[in-house]
Amino acid sequence: MFLTISTTGSPERPATDLGFLLHKHPGKAQAFSTSHGTAHVFYPEATAERCTAALLLEVDPVALVRSGQGKGRGGAPDAALAQYVNDRPYAASSLLAVALSGVFRTALKGQCAARPELPEEVRPLRIEIPALPARGGAALVHRLFDPLGWDLVRAEPVPLDEQFPEWGDSRYVRLVLEGGLRLADALRQLYVLLPVLDDAKHYWVAPDEVDKLLRAGDGWLAAHPETALITSRYLARHKRLTQDALDRLELVRLAEADGSEVEELDNAVDERIDTEERPVPLAVQRREAILAALRAAGAARVLDLGCGQGQLVQALLKDVAFTEIVGVDVSVRALTTAARRLRLERMGERQSSRVQLFQGSLAYTDKRLAGYDAAVLSEVIEHLDLPRLPALEYAVFAAARPGTVLVTTPNVEYNVRWETLPAGQVRHNDHRFEWTRAEFRTWAGGVAERYGYTVEFTPVGDDDPGVGPPTQMAVFTKAAVGTTAAGTTANTPKEGEAA
Ligand code: SAH
Repeated sequence: MFLTISTTGSPERPATDLGFLLHKHPGKAQAFSTSHGTAHVFYPEATAERCTAALLLEVDPVALVRSGQGKGRGGAPDAALAQYVNDRPYAASSLLAVALSGVFRTALKGQCAARPELPEEVRPLRIEIPALPARGGAALVHRLFDPLGWDLVRAEPVPLDEQFPEWGDSRYVRLVLEGGLRLADALRQLYVLLPVLDDAKHYWVAPDEVDKLLRAGDGWLAAHPETALITSRYLARHKRLTQDALDRLELVRLAEADGSEVEELDNAVDERIDTEERPVPLAVQRREAILAALRAAGAARVLDLGCGQGQLVQALLKDVAFTEIVGVDVSVRALTTAARRLRLERMGERQSSRVQLFQGSLAYTDKRLAGYDAAVLSEVIEHLDLPRLPALEYAVFAAARPGTVLVTTPNVEYNVRWETLPAGQVRHNDHRFEWTRAEFRTWAGGVAERYGYTVEFTPVGDDDPGVGPPTQMAVFTKAAVGTTAAGTTANTPKEGEAA
C-alpha cells in the first residue's frame, strides 16, 4: 500500500517544510510497526522547490488472518483461501488510513510545536495513491473528493490485467489530488474517505468510531453533499451508529449555519428593548439572576451547558466562589469565540486552572459532566427539537446529575410586549419552540418528578402583571437521598407563587 504527498515551494517557503508538518525528517527513512505490519516513511525527493513524502505500508498477511481481519466482506467460513489470497496487503484500504493516523497523528491534528504557524498555511499539495480500491468506481471518487476544495481530482481505473485489456477494469483506481489545502485537512479527508471507498472495514466498528468520524470530519463532513453515504459506509452500515452520527452532524450544521447569528440576533432584540424601555439589557439581567441562584445554592463547581460565546463563563470567573467552571457547546465556532473572549491563551495559571471549554452535545450522556454542584442551561432548551428534549433531560438530570440545575427559556406570552416582533413570531429563527409559563411549569414539573428533583420558578426581567416576565427560570434542586420520586413536591406551587 502506497501513498505519496508532495508539495512545491521556494527558498523563502521551502517545500521541505513538509518534514515539519509531518514530523518526519526528510533526510531519514523511518519505519514504524503497526498492528498489521510495518509502515515506512521516506522522502523520494526533498528540495526547497519540491518535496515528496511517501508512506508505504507493508502488511503482514499472516498477522492479518490471525487477528481475524483478513476476510473480505462477509468472511464466509469456507473462504479459507480467500483469507490469504486477497487484496488486503496491497490495496490502499482502511489499513492505510489507520497507519496514516498513527504515523502522522500530530499532522492530522494540525499541530506543529516547532513551527506553530505552519499547519494553518494553505500549501500546494499533490497526493497520489496508485492502487485505491473504489467500490463505486471513479464516479464515486469524484462525488467524494470534488466538493472538498481540490483543483484537480483524477481517478483513473486500473485495468484488471494490462495484457488483456478486454478483461476490463479492476475495482481499483489510481487517485491523484492536486490543490491548495491545509495538510491536516487533506489528511483528515483521506483518513475518512479511504475506508469509505474501500467499503470493507477491517476492524470491528465500535461506538467510539462515531467520535473518530466526527473529529476527522470536523470542518468538512457536515456540509458535504454525500454526508449520508460517507457516514453509513464509514460505520460499516451500522444503523444505530450511523443515525447517531447523522444526528450529531445535523447539530453541527445548525450551529454552523446559525452560530454567531444566533447570539447577535439575541443581543439585537435585547438591546432594542434595552434602549427603548429598560435600563439593563435582558441578557445582563438573566446572567445576574443565574449568578444569584448559583450563589444561593452554594455552588462552587459549575457547568454552563450550551455556553455559546462564553459571557456567563466570563462572569463566573470574576467571582472566586466559583472554583471550577466548565463551558460546553456543540458549536466549535461559538467555543472559539468564547476562548477568545476569555483570553484563555493569555490567562495566568491560577485563572486557567478554574476554567475549561469543550465541545459536546447535550443530547448524549457524557461522563465528563458528572459530579458538579450545578449546571446552567441558559436559553438552550428552545434550540432543540422537542423530540430531542427527553435525551437532554436524561443526559443532564440522570447522567450528569448535579445538585442544582438552572434552566432559562423565553416566556412566549411576553412576546406581545416586544413592539418590534411581529405577532405570532418567535424571538429568533433558531428557536424550535417558545413556551407559555404554564407549558414551562408542566415540563419542569414532569422532569423534576421523573428524576427526583424539586423545582421552583423565578421570573427574570420586568414581571408584567398580564403576560409575565420576558424570561422564565426554573431552579431544580436534587431531592435528598431517600426521597422517592412520588414524594417530591415537584408539582406543588409554593405559597405566593402564581400557579
Ligand atoms: N447559554 C448562552 C447561549 C444560548 S444560545 C446564553 O445564554 O447566552 C444556545 C446555545 O446552545 C448555542 O450556543 C448552541 O450552539 C447551543 N446548543 C444547541 N443545541 C445544543 C446541543 N444539543 N448540545 C450543546 N449545545 C447546544
